[in-house]
Amino acid sequence: KKIIITIDGYSSCGKSTLAKQLAAKLNYLYIDSGAMYRAITLYFIQQRVDWADTYQVKTALESIQLEFVYNQLTGQSDMYLNEENVEPMIREMVVAEKVSEVAAVREVREFAVAQQQQMGAAKGIVMDGRDIGTVVFPHAELKIFMTADPAVRVQRRFKELYAKNPNISLHEVKENLELRDYIDSNRAVSPLRKADDAIILDNSNLTMDEQLDLVSQWVEDAIMA
Ligand code: C5P
Repeated sequence: KKIIITIDGYSSCGKSTLAKQLAAKLNYLYIDSGAMYRAITLYFIQQRVDWADTYQVKTALESIQLEFVYNQLTGQSDMYLNEENVEPMIREMVVAEKVSEVAAVREVREFAVAQQQQMGAAKGIVMDGRDIGTVVFPHAELKIFMTADPAVRVQRRFKELYAKNPNISLHEVKENLELRDYIDSNRAVSPLRKADDAIILDNSNLTMDEQLDLVSQWVEDAIMA
């Protein structure tokens, strides 16, 4: 039996790392829902769309086509925006600084959620984000809510970004994570929440192997249930 696994939580808890490991192990599809919000944000920045203006947002969304394309070299899916690979660009700070504002816009969420739900129609999927267990797949068989010590999260994200851009500062990364967590948790439309039936996973003191063993057991239990 194939199931739907949702992984929600704060920024930089290691959701995508776990989601990729699970998908590889189970031979499931992995969908990074955050990449979709990042790609929409990139488009809005590039096209100078004012996301406070509902009309502009609606019109812009009509011109956005999102697609995940498998990359042979990395073995992962890249985010494509209107047939262009935007994978490196959407991870940059300019996008990170605005993405939570854009993701709080109702029309943007409706646009992204509808596509995410279609991707889950086939089951055998691991999707990570902020509202996957609460809004996108409220009937998922296994829901995980990840948390980690904020200091641990800042260190992890800093290392990741510093490898690509040595000009980045720890302070800047910390501010961005705090800002995104704040906006994501307090927005009016589907704020970041633990689903009632989600299992909490605090990985501040777990190695990657310990975490995968633990979660693999949950997966087995969910498949058997
Ligand atoms: O997962 P990632 O950190 O790349 O997500 C970037 C941003 O996209 C989040 O900070 C949040 O504002 C938004 N997001 C969301 N709902 C999701 C996934 C991401 O609002 N399901």
